[in-house]
Amino acid sequence: MPEPLIFEWSSEGRTAYSLPESQVPDASLPEGLVRDELDLPEVSELDVVRHFVRLSQQNVSIDTHFYPLGSCTMKYNPKVNEEVASLRGVRRVHPYTPPERAQGALQIMYELQQALAEIAGLDAVSLQPAAGAHGELTGMLVMRAYHESRGDTNRHVVIVPDSAHGTNPATAAMVGYQVATVRSDERGNVDLDQLRSLVGPETAGMMLTNPNTLGLFDEHIEAICRTVHEAGGLMYGDGANMNAILGITKPGELGFDVMHYNLHKTFTTPHGGGGPGAGPIAVRDFLAEFLPDPVVVAREEDGATRYELETPVRTVGKVRSLWGNFAVLARAYTYIRQQGADGLRSVSRHAIINANYLMARLKDAYYLPYDRPCMHEFVLSGRKQKRQGVRTLDIAKRIIDFGFHPPTIYFPLIVDEALMIEPTETENKRTLDEFADAMLEITREAETDPETIRSAPHEAPLRRLDETTAARRPDLTYRAAEAASQHTEEHTKHS
Ligand SMILES: *Cc1c(COP(=O)(O)O)cnc(C)c1O
Repeated sequence: MPEPLIFEWSSEGRTAYSLPESQVPDASLPEGLVRDELDLPEVSELDVVRHFVRLSQQNVSIDTHFYPLGSCTMKYNPKVNEEVASLRGVRRVHPYTPPERAQGALQIMYELQQALAEIAGLDAVSLQPAAGAHGELTGMLVMRAYHESRGDTNRHVVIVPDSAHGTNPATAAMVGYQVATVRSDERGNVDLDQLRSLVGPETAGMMLTNPNTLGLFDEHIEAICRTVHEAGGLMYGDGANMNAILGITKPGELGFDVMHYNLHKTFTTPHGGGGPGAGPIAVRDFLAEFLPDPVVVAREEDGATRYELETPVRTVGKVRSLWGNFAVLARAYTYIRQQGADGLRSVSRHAIINANYLMARLKDAYYLPYDRPCMHEFVLSGRKQKRQGVRTLDIAKRIIDFGFHPPTIYFPLIVDEALMIEPTETENKRTLDEFADAMLEITREAETDPETIRSAPHEAPLRRLDETTAARRPDLTYRAAEAASQHTEEHTKHS
């Protein structure tokens, strides 16, 4: 059935508000402030509510759908986090409140710094960066400041594996480094021989995700860190995949010197749609003096603890205004406190079990390029299906018809027709089985009825979009005439 459109419900004089009689004289607004060329619909309050609620229900979200978007850790966001983030003292604290009157908020930040340092096995934390990529930038600025502080100014190369997330080489370049790419070997590890040939007196450091974007734990991680350290470089850890190792191992113990977290991935603050996130960084003790301004410190005074904002002595400066994304920090703090150390360990264990279970169910029907136990996610290739005339993009569109958000596709770049699946720990076996059944059903369709896959989605509110134009030149305005004709067209198709 075609959707009713709010613009077509318009009826002259109808309004969506009712205001009491004005108690002040009318005044006209300055010329040009109100645009009267906008042909806005005149509708009732109930019409408006129905329009927006209907639109909101067309969204795919964690609260409505399984969302196995690899590398994004789309896990359940516990509602108690929202409860805490909306407590008056959290929600209403003004960033210019003097520290002596914001002790509770600063305590949350201080204890979050401590918890994140503990989880990383590192010594000091900055909560300032507003996203993972921003954390990368901040961490790499710290790395550069460290080398410069030692007068070690010839180090201008950063090594990045070919499996890396695109933000890694982009970050290194933004900080002014040259990027050297190291290959992955046939087991999905960093090619250690090539790494040894790449490092030298020009190496500033290496950016590495472990487990990597193939969902594989690098079997030579200690040798990699040793190789880079022996050349005088530092190890940067992309912590987007922390969901695989919480309480099991620590980046600091593996040899990383600086890393970022994605609180909106690992630590259950909501993400997607470009909302606020947070990408705190953790560093080893010798890098703490370079952290961005400010950090939260605790002082013991007359038997009481006082929290203060402090500027690290050789700070790289400000990377964000005020305190960072405080409401996100409060949510992550709530989650960590609620889980405790044992809870966090069990998060990662379940994330790993869930991913391995799905991988085992799917690896005969799809091609599995790196066939060894995975961590919290795994990467399949749609190359068998491609030979049947169905591309990974088509499979991703078809899975929408089964009521699931598609996995990440065409990433990492080193896997042909990649399907990157991250189920997360918060899904149960019934959901995993339903998803696996759907993925298997699609492989049968690829043999018998590929056209159904190629023309998917069939059940979604919108059919297939032109992906490039939709991203580069999004069409966000409603045009009555076009919509009306499309409306009729859709209607004909449906009947
Ligand atoms: C998500 C992700 C990032 C970037 O994080 P944002 O918070 O989206 O900026 C970096 N690296 C990896 C491996 C990621 O998965």
